This record gives sequence, C-alpha cells and structure tokens, in this order.
Amino acid sequence: MPLHQQETFSIELAEITASDRVKELGLSLSPNINFDQEKVFPQIDGWGWKSQIKKKVKLLNNIESLLEDCLFEGEQVLYIAKGNQYSFGEQVFLGIWASAINHTVFVLTNVRLLMFRTNSKGIPKKTFWMVYYNQIIVFKGNWRGMLTLKLKDGRKLNFTSFPKADRKIMPKVFEEILENFRKTQFDPEVSQSLENLCSHCLDQVPKAEFTCNTCQSIFWSPKELALRSLIFPSWGDFLMGHTLIAFLELFGGIATWLYLIGAISVVLSGGNPILLGSAIFSIMMFNGLDAIITYRVASKGLHPRSVPVVESIA
Ligand SMILES: [Zn+2]
Repeated sequence: MPLHQQETFSIELAEITASDRVKELGLSLSPNINFDQEKVFPQIDGWGWKSQIKKKVKLLNNIESLLEDCLFEGEQVLYIAKGNQYSFGEQVFLGIWASAINHTVFVLTNVRLLMFRTNSKGIPKKTFWMVYYNQIIVFKGNWRGMLTLKLKDGRKLNFTSFPKADRKIMPKVFEEILENFRKTQFDPEVSQSLENLCSHCLDQVPKAEFTCNTCQSIFWSPKELALRSLIFPSWGDFLMGHTLIAFLELFGGIATWLYLIGAISVVLSGGNPILLGSAIFSIMMFNGLDAIITYRVASKGLHPRSVPVVESIA
C-alpha cells in the first residue's frame, strides 16, 4: 500500500468511535440516558469486538427503563457487566441452584454502583441496590476470578461469573472512577453502605424499612417470608420470585406434610407413636432449615408485597 494511502487508512481507523460501532451493528441505546460510550464499550476493534458490543448493548437495553427511572440529573453511565453474587452459605444449602437466584447486573455511573438482580439472560427481577462510591473501601479481583467489594459498614460482597474481559478490566475501571469521584468531595448520607432501592420507583428505601416513602410500595420483611417457609417450604421462595428453587422445595414440603398426616392417622388407629415423633422431627428439620435459608436470602434485598394502588391517577 502506498504511503499516502496508509496514512489515510490509519487516520480513518483512529476516528472510529464506540458510538459509530454501535450504529454499525444496527444497535441503539436510549437517548434519555447519558452514556459515556467510550468507557461503556472499551473494545471497539480487534478480535471479538462485535460480540462484546452486542452483549453489552443487550444488557443495557434490558435495564434502560429502570435506568431512566433511577438516574439523577447529570449522572452518567460508565460501565456495565453481568456477574453472579456468591455466598458460601447458599452454596452449601442450595448447591448449583444458588446461582439461579443471584444473577446481578452491575452498572457503574459517575457517582455510584447500581446493582440489579436479573435472570440468567439479564432480564431484571424486582430486587435492586446501590452503593455510593464513598462507601467502597476496596474493589478487587483474585486469581479464581472472584471480585470482592468491601464496604465502609463492614459488609463484604463476592461476585463470580463475570466474563473474562470484564474481570480483567473492571478493577482498573473502578479505580479510575473512584479517583474521579473522590475529587468531587461528594459525600452523600446513607442508612447502610449497600442501600436497597424500591422495586417500583427505584428510590432509596432505608435500612430495616419495608415501605417506600416515595411511592408507598410495601415489601416483605425477611421474618414474614421465613415464617411462611416454616409453615410450608417453598412458600417464601415463590413470594420472592425464585420459582425454580421454590418448585424443588415444593416436593420436600409435600413429602414432609404427607409423612406427618400419614403418621397421625396411623397413631390414631392404634399404631406405634414413635412414627409420629419421627414425622414431627423431620418436618421441624426440613421446614426449619428452609425457613433459615429463606430468611438469609430475603435479608439481602427487597421483595415487593404490593405496589401502590393510586398509580393510574398519577
Ligand atoms: Zn418506591
């Protein structure tokens, strides 16, 4: 290639922006959201750039309506990625099924980290959080690919399953964002480092409160959900929208109740009372364990019980 053509080619290449690449792929982003596309799409050429951009646009499109509701004026979206929140306890009790209820989309803006619980495809569920950057002490990755977030109030959150490209780049992106945030000296007050967001209007719902002051949505308390699971395993999970796990627990719930009813009828017709003791023991063990797990899972975020009825008037 003659020298002057090479120069023209390299100049053209240098001028391609992330926004051009998004259009080139026939994709679009909400015009109502302020994106820093150069940061949101760090890879715009080289091997695999098309699939990288497609995946990120898809994740964004899934949550755009939520972002439109919750972003502040001047708040800019800087990064998006999807991972899975990891908890050792849940892994022990729920095994491989634990990941089904912990898919989480991360959105980094210029002031906070937003987290949206989603299904495996990144479609949002009803539980959302935010962390202002002044609440983050450390965000780092380890050799196993786990990302850890240490918060000011002592909480520690672990995440796995981020795509390899994100695992590499996210700690660096975080560092840059945190540095810029510190320069602003913005120090918002919070009720806890990881603030719950209302499932309906996405405003903050303070710690230990289960009614949204803005839209009056009401949420289940962990105790209410755990009590329901104690009576019948899977009830609490159905109410939290964890349908897959709820169905699995449903069989155990039916089995323990049938065993108890069977034992009662055997004892009433003169059978061995030990059978009844064993049935009561198994129902206490299974239902009790389910209630404990439900309480732990429910304590992590908000689960809507009812949305405001005056919505249509507004
Ligand atoms: Zn609300």
